[in-house]
Amino acid sequence: MTIGHFAKATRLSPKALRLYDELGLLRPARVDPVTGYRLYAPAQVERARLVAWLRRLGMPLAEIRGVCDLDAAGAAAEVRAYWARVEAETAARRDLASFLVDHLSRKDTLVSTPELTPLTLRYAALSDRGLVREHHQDTAHAGSRLFAVADGHGRAGARASAAAVDALRHLDTEEPPAGHLLDLLQDAADRAREAVHEAVGAGDADGGASGTTLSAMLWTGSRLALVHIGDSRVHLLRDGELFLLTHDHTHVRALVDEGRISAAEAESHPRRALLTRALGPGVDNTPDLRLHEPRAGDRWLLCSDGLSTVVPDAGIRRVLTEVREPAAAVRALVDLANSLGGPDNIGCVVADVIPTPETAA
Ligand code: MG
Repeated sequence: MTIGHFAKATRLSPKALRLYDELGLLRPARVDPVTGYRLYAPAQVERARLVAWLRRLGMPLAEIRGVCDLDAAGAAAEVRAYWARVEAETAARRDLASFLVDHLSRKDTLVSTPELTPLTLRYAALSDRGLVREHHQDTAHAGSRLFAVADGHGRAGARASAAAVDALRHLDTEEPPAGHLLDLLQDAADRAREAVHEAVGAGDADGGASGTTLSAMLWTGSRLALVHIGDSRVHLLRDGELFLLTHDHTHVRALVDEGRISAAEAESHPRRALLTRALGPGVDNTPDLRLHEPRAGDRWLLCSDGLSTVVPDAGIRRVLTEVREPAAAVRALVDLANSLGGPDNIGCVVADVIPTPETAA
C-alpha cells in the first residue's frame, strides 16, 4: 500500500506516519530504493490503529513502542497500568487545585473564623518500642496546635523521625505569622526535609538508606492542615465510621493502584515496607498537602504502620469508639498492637474536636 492509501486506512496523517517511522514505532514494510516512497503491508493496519488509539489516550511515544511489542494480554496490562498512573497524577493535581481554590477564595490565615462554632482539641500522643524491635525509631507528638507521627527507618531512623517532628515543633508554641496556610505548610515540609537530610547525613556511612515518614496536622483554630509523606496514616472517626484520609506512598500501594496485584496480595508482599516517598536522601521527598474541615465530635488518629498493619481497622475503630479519653485511647491502641505480637514500633496520636466550653470562650 502507498503511504496515501495506508494513511486513509489507518486514519493517520502521512506526516504522522513519517514521524512514527523515524521513531521506530511503525516501520514501512518496504522503502522504494529509487523513489524513497514508503510502502506498507495491509497486515500493518492493526498496529497502526493501535498506535493511533494510544496517542489519543495521551500515552508518550516511547511507551507506545513498548506496548505495541507485547501480546494482547501484556498490552492490556500495560494500558491499565498507564491509566492508573494518569489517574493517580490527576488525583494529586486535583488535590492541589482544590487546595489553591480554597486558598485563593478564602484568603486563609491562621485566624479562626468567628462565625463558626469555636472548637477546641483534646489530645494525647504515645509511642512504644513494641515487643520485637531492638530500637525505637517512631516519634509521636501532640501539642496545642501540632500533631505528628514519624516512623524512622535505617540506622539513623530514630534521629530522622525526631528531626522531622522537631523541625515542626515551633508551630506549636510560636504565634505563627499571619501568612497563608499553603505557604506555611510548604515551609514546614521544606524545613522537615532539610532537618532530616542533616540528621541522616551527619550519621554513619550508610546514612543514605535512612529516612522517615511524616504525617502531621496543624490546627489553625478552625481547620486542620495536613502534611503527609510515607506510609504512616491519618484516620478520621466521624459519626461512628472510620475513614482513611492518607494515601500510602509505598511500592505495593502503587502496584495495587495499577491493578498489578490485589489488596490481599499486597498484605503479604515481600516488599510491603518499601516506600516510594519519604523524607531522606535518595527518594522522592514530595509530601501531600491537604486541608480538612473539622466538626465537633470528630476524632482524629495519626499512627505509624506498627499500628495500622498489625491491628485490623475494625480493632482500631472499636478502641476509638469505646475509649473516651485520648490518653486512654492511645494507651489502648498501643496495648492492642503489642497483644498481637508488637512486631514494629508503634506511634499514635488521638485528637478529639470538641465545642469550646462557654466559660472559656
Ligand atoms: Mg514502622
